[in-house]
Amino acid sequence: MFDKVLIANRGEIALRIHRACREMGIQTVAVHSTADSDAMHVRLADESVCIGPPPARDSYLNIPAILSAATIAGVDAIHPGYGFLSENARFAEAAEAHGFTFIGPSPEHIRMMGDKIVAKQTAKDLGLPLVPGSPGPVDSVEEVISLGEQIGWPVLIKAVAGGGGRGMKVVYTADGASEAFSLARNEAKAAFSNDSVYLEKYLPRPRHIEIQVLGDGKGEGVHLGERDCSLQRRHQKVLEEAPSPALNSEQRARIGELAAVAVRKLKYRGAGTMEFLFQDGEFYFIEMNTRLQVEHPITEAVTGIDLVREQIRIAAGGPLGFTQKDILISGHAIECRINAEHPETFVPCPGKVTDYHPPGGLGVRVDSGLYAGYVMPPYYDSMVAKLIVSGATRNECLMRLRRSLEEFVIGGIDTTIPLQQRIIRQQEFIDGNYDIHWLEKLVGLKK
Ligand code: ADP
Repeated sequence: MFDKVLIANRGEIALRIHRACREMGIQTVAVHSTADSDAMHVRLADESVCIGPPPARDSYLNIPAILSAATIAGVDAIHPGYGFLSENARFAEAAEAHGFTFIGPSPEHIRMMGDKIVAKQTAKDLGLPLVPGSPGPVDSVEEVISLGEQIGWPVLIKAVAGGGGRGMKVVYTADGASEAFSLARNEAKAAFSNDSVYLEKYLPRPRHIEIQVLGDGKGEGVHLGERDCSLQRRHQKVLEEAPSPALNSEQRARIGELAAVAVRKLKYRGAGTMEFLFQDGEFYFIEMNTRLQVEHPITEAVTGIDLVREQIRIAAGGPLGFTQKDILISGHAIECRINAEHPETFVPCPGKVTDYHPPGGLGVRVDSGLYAGYVMPPYYDSMVAKLIVSGATRNECLMRLRRSLEEFVIGGIDTTIPLQQRIIRQQEFIDGNYDIHWLEKLVGLKK
């Protein structure tokens, strides 16, 4: 097992990884930009190294600086968390080349799944169902129009290098194709320096269902059930729950088994998530994330399995700690992402946190780097806390969530706590009756 791990991230996920390491008797090294000197992940780690100025490209995305920090601190392994360098195959390769274990999948698998077209082709070969669409990149408006006529409007133009919903445009008729095509390409170019796009049939009312998987890299693999992440705003997840209120046990077993078989065939190593859209009883693969997800704690809550611990164990060459039949899903869990944003306008609101009182009690977990007096820098993602609540039933979980959101005090900055309270008051949410457009209708972004 490793003696020392460098955590190449910040915020709540850096803390989350630190906690798993601590419980395993592993020393931690935090890295931070000059804007994060007072951050909680730096305070709690055994050691810390400043890796650059505030902009992420100069610090948290600065591969030479992070590898130098790892060398100076003498670590055995690097955990990338999510975002930043977590799905950067070059970083995984460079870490290995410098003699550090990368706590994640092989660079080949990261690269394969980072190209959405290769990912879809691979998924197809593995027996996963796909959304109808272009078999490869589309290079002209004419192609968009002819495919649209063929598979039926509306269609969705998506970035091959996609992530975070950027470079995605819906096209309703042939007339809109030209504008959407150039908008999507420009957005993709700006976000990923790659303007390649592809096409999918646009599903009108799907749910987003994803399957958590773990593989040992040698052909053993399991799934840990699904998460329903249909509550989204601008393709960003806002609230997630496990299990999904939309699946019956046959559908749940079917998609879980398909994902587990795929992991075994791929000889996938570590934690990953296969994302599907689900509509009218059918699943459609959209992508695989080759990293830990923000919403991983709800899976931990219903399975009792510490996913970061498993990631570390697998990276150190250990076997999976269980077989599929050992994994039991029990109870219900919901995660609310709390952002430092105005709850109605969504304008980010960094600044000084004057008061901080997280909720507690049975079945309540808060993952956050906040503390009273903390000054939140304006340079990074606005998510500041995750509230994860679990209960024996969905109803118990909802009651506990309502109580926990009431208790949560974050003073001095605007947060989306009032939005979460509004969501869980809606009858359709209480009934579990929502799709990926439901939240945007609620907040007035969509009719
Ligand atoms: P990204 O990698 O940018 O997050 P995804 O392929 O994961 O892109 O899609 C993000 C979200 O966009 C999905 O959760 C879903 O809400 C929506 N979406 C993606 N593909 C489709 C589709 N074919 N039809 C309808 N909505 C889609």
